[in-house]
Amino acid sequence: MKCSQGENFSNGELHRFGNIELSPSAGILNYGQGLFEGLKAYRKHDGNILLFRPKENAFRLRTGAERMCMPSPSVEQFLEAVKLTVLANERWIPPPGKGSLYIRPLLMGSGAVLGLAPAPEYTFLIYVSPVGNYFKEGLAPINLIVETEMHRATPGGTGGVKTIGNYAAVLKAQSAAKAKGFSDVLYLDSVHKRYLEEVSSCNVFVVKGNVISTPAIKGTILPGITRKSIIDVARSQGFQVEERFVTVDELLDADEVFCTGTAVVISPVGSITYLGKRVTYGSEGVGVVSQQLYSSLTSLQMGRAEDKMGWIVELK
Ligand code: PMP
Repeated sequence: MKCSQGENFSNGELHRFGNIELSPSAGILNYGQGLFEGLKAYRKHDGNILLFRPKENAFRLRTGAERMCMPSPSVEQFLEAVKLTVLANERWIPPPGKGSLYIRPLLMGSGAVLGLAPAPEYTFLIYVSPVGNYFKEGLAPINLIVETEMHRATPGGTGGVKTIGNYAAVLKAQSAAKAKGFSDVLYLDSVHKRYLEEVSSCNVFVVKGNVISTPAIKGTILPGITRKSIIDVARSQGFQVEERFVTVDELLDADEVFCTGTAVVISPVGSITYLGKRVTYGSEGVGVVSQQLYSSLTSLQMGRAEDKMGWIVELK
């Protein structure tokens, strides 16, 4: 669906997957005026199709659009477009337990603009792809390196919204980490360089006894929907969850560390390397808290557990 700056999106239509045409001076190509979202559709045992908290993605897109000077589809338009796209691609949704259909909504300044300014026109589109595990390790623990030179976001910047440039900014550190055999990078805050931020595409949690701590949302990390859900699930299971500044020392001293995100769901962390020193957790096996929260969340997402929170949207 398309619209001009200052107007509302009109309802969209379905197209076969293929290339799209853009002006060489499109806002997204020149000034990175683009946002995306990520959510998943799961097939339930009774054949129904489930979405997990899709309204949260719609809200986050709208918040991001405001920061990026873009119009955005209404929550209803977003939900309707996701539903139509998923139903039209139903044959690509893997059977229960075999993966999911990843849904990628994308909002961009598609109009031509030469001098730096918001684009005059916008396009919102959604494409989908069947996916399995994000990290090749699956639920097996991943190995992270703490990045001490490069930062993902700075206060006042765009780190808190899902804009495309944030991902371009992490490519260098992520590629270097992967070349050294690490699964991904854990970023520190750019001011004090000692507080945890997040991983390239997921949020981070540190477990010590019955307390689970995670960096607070303060504009430099993405407010993950999985993060928010895990906080609620963990609290409902009696854990004390703290959203605050978490230091790198606490990370190294933790009983367990795990990451959360739509793509990874929960990824236990087996080791952290910081300034050349490698710390391992729980003999690098899957920690009990990570395992427990992973089972609870995936049971909900796949429709195997009762949806007491009202987080699941059934499409049929
Ligand atoms: N942080 C970043 C930078 C991400 O790209 C993602 C993935 N969207 C997350 C955290 C996790 O967010 P969510 O749980 O909403 O997928």
